[in-house]
Amino acid sequence: MPATKRPPVKRKRAKPDPVKAWHSRLRRYRPELMTDTLDALQKMYGRPTWQRVYDPTSELVLTMLSANSADINAEKAFDALCRHWPAQGGKRSVGARSGFRAGWGGVGIEEGEADWSAIADAPLDELIDVIRPGGLGPTKAPRIQAVLRKILEERGDFSLEFLGEMKPADALAWLTQIPGIGRKTASVVLLFSFGMPLMPVDRHIERVSKRIGLVPPKATPEQAHDYLQVQLDDERVHEAHVNLITHGRQTCHAQRPECNRCAIAARCRYLDPKAP
Ligand code: SF4
Repeated sequence: MPATKRPPVKRKRAKPDPVKAWHSRLRRYRPELMTDTLDALQKMYGRPTWQRVYDPTSELVLTMLSANSADINAEKAFDALCRHWPAQGGKRSVGARSGFRAGWGGVGIEEGEADWSAIADAPLDELIDVIRPGGLGPTKAPRIQAVLRKILEERGDFSLEFLGEMKPADALAWLTQIPGIGRKTASVVLLFSFGMPLMPVDRHIERVSKRIGLVPPKATPEQAHDYLQVQLDDERVHEAHVNLITHGRQTCHAQRPECNRCAIAARCRYLDPKAP
């Protein structure tokens, strides 16, 4: 009996990685878009220099307090935390009003460091009351406590300094495995406390990047991190984060952006859908 011929096995072609595909399309059809954007923003706002302002645990809690709240209110809530549960050992070493970091929309933190152990164990109602000036206290208080307790459970204390010894991707993975810490919050902590080249994307950065065409219009905030990260050289990540936020706050407003004084206008797809 003749052997029956088997039909050829159809191999499925692997879907191309959308982030890599987008990056190579930009390189091909809109070369140097990121470089030109950062150079233009540098002309408008200067080149920010990285400097550590807060220890990573403070940075984490401050960033959690700033979610869906104005930075200035998050600072008030953080100051209230430090006043209500001051750390043993005294005042923040950087001194009053100097606790201000580039790209941040507040005015700086006045108080000392907080006693994280007391905050983790505080009655929930009391914590909600103390952070009320920051807004959304009932949502944020249990999240902050859960995160602090998880750090204690995993590490035996509240310090996150050990993250500075890790590779950026590993440090990001460690932080984001804690329920309540998202990609943006983790990237803020690692960028600002350790200078790791991780790009946090907030609503200003997302809006500006989509208008210029650095990120696809339908990308989610989570995806926007990857689309921007892949286009950035490590040494320009901090600058990109700070200047894109500054641009969103000062010029490329959500309503009525001031395109007439924007240095990247010639390459912006919001003004011209065929911009090079
Ligand atoms: S040209 Fe207008 S929309 Fe485009 S980045 Fe500048 S301010 Fe924003």
